[in-house]
Amino acid sequence: MIIDFHTHTFPSKIAGRAITTLAGNSHTKAFLDGTDESLAASMKQSGIDCSVILPVATSDAQIVSINDSAERLQEVRRKSGLISFGAMHPDFEDWKNELLHLKNTGIKGIKLHPVYQNVDLDDIRMLRIYDRCAELGLMVVLHAGFDVGFPGVDRCAPSRSLHALRELAFPSRNSRQNGFRFILAHMGGWHQWDEVLRLAPEFLEAGPVLLDTAFSCGSFTSEGKYWKPSETRMLDSQQFMAIVRAFGTERILFATDSPWSDQEESLKWMRSLPLTKEELDAILGENARKLLEPRNQSPTS
Ligand SMILES: [Zn+2]
Repeated sequence: MIIDFHTHTFPSKIAGRAITTLAGNSHTKAFLDGTDESLAASMKQSGIDCSVILPVATSDAQIVSINDSAERLQEVRRKSGLISFGAMHPDFEDWKNELLHLKNTGIKGIKLHPVYQNVDLDDIRMLRIYDRCAELGLMVVLHAGFDVGFPGVDRCAPSRSLHALRELAFPSRNSRQNGFRFILAHMGGWHQWDEVLRLAPEFLEAGPVLLDTAFSCGSFTSEGKYWKPSETRMLDSQQFMAIVRAFGTERILFATDSPWSDQEESLKWMRSLPLTKEELDAILGENARKLLEPRNQSPTS
């Protein structure tokens, strides 16, 4: 089973505009048109069974509509292998109840993007959200490291995510059982990979942390479709494997950041790495499958 743990789609009405704006801001190119349908078609073409959609709220005013549609579309998306997480924003007043509501409607986790949300990853308003997720058993996926659209903005440094993990008041022993995970995108910190590697032992000690591989590796050259590697350096296979070995293959989740990279090409690159079949299977889907499988537990209040 192959699972892409980090993708983005937009409602059909705004997908075109969203893609143009985001691509313009970050000087990247989109491989798809940003709709659920094009993601499902890409999955079919590349043999990916399931994609996790991670919605980002850039203001608190978007939370209710994003989460309502994530809930409403669950059934129909499941048929094409799509699962959406919820969104949260540090300014959203009713965060505590909204997270409970997400949990009760079967949503598995939330996505937060501190750079777009104008907050430090270890700001107190973010810590209370993580803590609530740990209590409820919701996964937290965080943008980590620099963002291609905001050069030098240090809100998601690896030292901050380590700090946040250490500050969790809800015991991580309990939360590990209830499904809470702290998932750092882009191999723990986009363009801050030396620091990720240096802090790896401390991360492993601090709590249930995983890394996704989104937009961090390989150098794709499909004509006219990709960024120039000279402008946007990615991890080469040696650097990538150093982080994989430091964290362990059980903590790595295959992810593409689709539409911002190509699922099929990304998969090809992963398969070229010096990994055993078991290790590759774990990264490409088994680790994620275990996280996403239904749990028999009643929601908390
Ligand atoms: Zn992303």
